[in-house]
Amino acid sequence: MRAMVFERPGRPLQAAEVPVPEPGAGQVLVRIGACAVCRTDLHVLDGELPQPKLPLIPGHEIVGHVVAGGPGASRYRPGDRVGIPWLGWTCGECRYCRSDRENLCDRARFTGYTLDGGYAEYTVADERFCFPIPAGGTDAGAAPLMCAGVIGHRSLRKAGDARRLGLYGFGAAAHIVAQVARHEGRQVFAFTRPGDVAAQEFARSLGACWAGDSGTAPPEELEAAILFAPVGELVPQALKAVAKGGTVVCGGIHMSDIPSFPYELLWQERSVCSVANLTRRDAEEFLALAPRVPVRTEVVTFPLAEANEALTRLRTGKLQGAAVLVMD
Ligand SMILES: [Zn+2]
Ligand SMILES: [Zn+2]
Repeated sequence: MRAMVFERPGRPLQAAEVPVPEPGAGQVLVRIGACAVCRTDLHVLDGELPQPKLPLIPGHEIVGHVVAGGPGASRYRPGDRVGIPWLGWTCGECRYCRSDRENLCDRARFTGYTLDGGYAEYTVADERFCFPIPAGGTDAGAAPLMCAGVIGHRSLRKAGDARRLGLYGFGAAAHIVAQVARHEGRQVFAFTRPGDVAAQEFARSLGACWAGDSGTAPPEELEAAILFAPVGELVPQALKAVAKGGTVVCGGIHMSDIPSFPYELLWQERSVCSVANLTRRDAEEFLALAPRVPVRTEVVTFPLAEANEALTRLRTGKLQGAAVLVMD
């Protein structure tokens, strides 16, 4: 099969012909229709996340069809459409797994990081960590739901019942969260790279009541803010923008250093927290919620062979919505 392979940090992905993987016990073999490109993929490729599997097939927002099951796999039949997210395996035994926090599992394995992922024509995955994707809509349209959607959902839950919600970084995750937040009756304030008028316009088109540069103050105090941009300077800026008791949720896996800031910004029971990974329950909840909103993803598609181009477009912010690789 064709795959785009990561060999070491700083090198572009290499197009390669590799064997179709064999499904092991409890796994399914999936023919991939689409795999969305996530900012986390850039962090892996830049060497910002420790100890990836090498060589590695990146990609963790996979939608495809089951081809076959390995020994003992029984949840899906050939032809079923499934989504495969970042969380690829958990131990089920550690104190995190046993307390409903499998996102923090000590021995978790991650698709497209410590397990091969979706920048390929086929992949194998533990069937317990695959999710049914109902018929209707394209694979490319559904792929961003698997991370931008699910982890965006977990981030939104961490923001509690905040009515005035700030979103810093208006990319794949924020464009989905904005739709869910509006559906829940919240007001969305979108913060973009300075001068990114197109992203601000995009945010307004998805129901944001205000959109502006990340350095500017919103017209009203926010009750919570979610940071999807991997920029540590935004943490004190967001704290300045939230009201007493407000929360700043860091939704990404990696961020540049957070500069020091006066305690006054945190005082009055403001809080800062991060979101790590996802649980299977997050995925189930979000995939049930998405059609009720209904979430409509905006995608820019690329053929598999152009994965490096898709990554560059994501890095430079020259994308509206989500980049998605499509296999033919
Ligand atoms: Zn992701
Ligand atoms: Zn565990």
